[in-house]
Amino acid sequence: MTSPSSDIGELDPPQLERLLRESGYEPFHARQLYRWMHRHGVADFDQMTNLSKELRAELKGRFTVGRPQIVSDQLSTDGTRKLVLELGDRRRIESVFIPDTPAMTFCVSTQVGCAMSCGFCLTGKMGLVRHLTAGEIVGQVVTLATATGLLDQPFNIVLMGMGEPLHNYDNTMKALRMLHAEEGLAISPRRITLSTVGIVPGLERLAREPLMPNLAISLHATTEEQRTALVPPNAKYSLAAILDACRRFPLKRRSRITFEYVLLNGVNDTPEDARRLAKLLSGIKAKVNLIPLNAAPGIPFERPSDSRIDRFAQILADRHLTVSVRKSRGRDIRAACGQLIVEGGSKKSAAQQMALLLH
Ligand code: SAH
Repeated sequence: MTSPSSDIGELDPPQLERLLRESGYEPFHARQLYRWMHRHGVADFDQMTNLSKELRAELKGRFTVGRPQIVSDQLSTDGTRKLVLELGDRRRIESVFIPDTPAMTFCVSTQVGCAMSCGFCLTGKMGLVRHLTAGEIVGQVVTLATATGLLDQPFNIVLMGMGEPLHNYDNTMKALRMLHAEEGLAISPRRITLSTVGIVPGLERLAREPLMPNLAISLHATTEEQRTALVPPNAKYSLAAILDACRRFPLKRRSRITFEYVLLNGVNDTPEDARRLAKLLSGIKAKVNLIPLNAAPGIPFERPSDSRIDRFAQILADRHLTVSVRKSRGRDIRAACGQLIVEGGSKKSAAQQMALLLH
């Protein structure tokens, strides 16, 4: 058996089948192995009791199953749990479990750090350290599901942890296919939401995917100038181009694109902003998710008052938009949006970040 990596947990079902077939094993052995790793969360070949001794020995001699290790598990007063996970190269990521929203939700990372440098996000301050592999993204979900006792229960996944999923397109989409596989956790794409700053070529590729997650766009501003200031990738992928891609995005019946809008006191939360936002979204099957800023040291913005938040939401509702205000969960343990950061990350310069992004 040969594999490009010795981590067999990186292989999707067709790759695993091919690998085993090359060594003379029937496809059902690949399905059994996949089930152990990705449905039951077992990483030790010795525990895979329905595989023959011979196959187990062969696997042990050549492969490992990489699995992120929990290095800390913090519980918030509201039930949210933040897990710090360590990867094979000792790098760390954070993943969050948010119970009863009403569903059970896992907030999952797609990169160590992030290259997007959004002005209000702590992860952006870390810079990009590296992409996660597909196996690491899947391993994160399996580790979370095991830790929360939800391996055989339904749950939702939001790709809203550290990182920009469309900047790590291939690994993210491979992970979604692996999570969707029948022999794995069989997670329906309807239970998965991909949140992005709006990398237009990525949106165009996504529009052609057979396996289509729900889409959330981090909009955050209503003019090109302000969006570029808050979300630097806007200089290359403008608000206008993103909204255009959204207009062309194929949506299933009754489904809509979520537009996330972080509210920054006195910056993008005025009635004019709200009216402009409603106008920009006209003609798009949209819903708006307002996220009052989760303030943090080093973030030069403030959270608006509840009355400003309500006023903004009301203007959108008056224009027949569906609006929700995201309740921040886990703020006491820094598990809320934009608060995920692992100490020790070094900030790259904005120019380096843009170079990475444009690559
Ligand atoms: N890269 C993806 C996922 C990021 S996190 C994206 O940009 O969509 C999910 C959401 O949290 C994004 O909308 C992000 O802009 C928002 N966010 C980041 N920092 C925040 C903060 N400090 N307070 C509130 N929301 C924040």
